[in-house]
Amino acid sequence: MIRLDKFERYPLTFGPTPIEPMRRMSAALGGKVNLFAKRDDCNSGLAFGGNKLRKLEYIVPDILAKKADTLVSIGGVQSNHTRMVAATAAKLGLKCVVVQESWVPHEDAVYDRVGNILLTRLMGADSRIVPDGFDIGIRRSWEDAIQSVKDAGGVPYGIPAGASVHPYGGLGYVGFAEEVRKQEAEMGIRFDYIIVCVVTGSTQAGMIVGFADDNRADRVIGIDASGTPDQTREQVRAIVDNTAGLVELGRPVRDDEIVILNDYAYPAYGIPSAETNEAIRFAARTEAMITDPVYEGKSMQAMIDLVKKGYFPAGSNVLYAHLGGAPAINGYSYTYRNG
Ligand SMILES: *Cc1c(COP(=O)(O)O)cnc(C)c1O
Repeated sequence: MIRLDKFERYPLTFGPTPIEPMRRMSAALGGKVNLFAKRDDCNSGLAFGGNKLRKLEYIVPDILAKKADTLVSIGGVQSNHTRMVAATAAKLGLKCVVVQESWVPHEDAVYDRVGNILLTRLMGADSRIVPDGFDIGIRRSWEDAIQSVKDAGGVPYGIPAGASVHPYGGLGYVGFAEEVRKQEAEMGIRFDYIIVCVVTGSTQAGMIVGFADDNRADRVIGIDASGTPDQTREQVRAIVDNTAGLVELGRPVRDDEIVILNDYAYPAYGIPSAETNEAIRFAARTEAMITDPVYEGKSMQAMIDLVKKGYFPAGSNVLYAHLGGAPAINGYSYTYRNG
């Protein structure tokens, strides 16, 4: 049995997120596979919530223990993560500096005014746009921002992109697996596959460790949306190992238990393909489920494609982990101007 309970958790979310059947979507795809969604996109009242809050719940106790006064993080211009860090700072009464890199070559005139960045600014964060391109690793601009807080006499607390390579970044989604197991018992059902979008890695890595506890880590199907899958896989591997150690999984996770499909990130991070857009419209029209063109639209596209290809045996119960991200869609108003 893994040990998550020895880690302190500071509540930022409502609690366990609902699992709901996607009946119309399942039927529209032939009715052979039962699709469900776990709604981590509706997990909190803090600035529309999302997966980063589950991770941050295990990081806040360390922020408080270190008596930091300013959170410093990094992401793209339309980063959900920096929005969630800004929300956490506001809720804790701390200051916040977020570096927003130019990860996506966008076409909308208001891309840097609406959606996530608007919300981030509204919550009082000092949002600094820099020209650097996409990279999930540790960045110079983030280290510079941390230094700038120190130079001004503040006590910074650095949170890396996606909160992923933070030592506690993987714990939140270990908790997700424990939550799903409880819900399975209540619902009298067992999920055969879990579909999850992966970019900076700690969401899937946490799930892998959590589901390794009952030997089904390989049923967590990561859908790469980074477009730099080797780096993402390497980062997932490292977070799995660190997190497994923390929660005392008691055995190494094998490489074949880390499943990531690379077929859906094209043409690039943050840019939806025609197929991604089709999937976004399909989810909206069958289930009123809003997915974004950066992350969830790509994992939705993957799930639909895998159902159509017969990847899941007939009768399978498939759980789509909806991780949030809908505010970003405002930065793509031209793409969806006609629906
Ligand atoms: C950050 C994010 C992801 C990817 O999660 P990682 O832990 O970075 O792999 C997926 N979907 C949404 C909406 C996100 O904000």
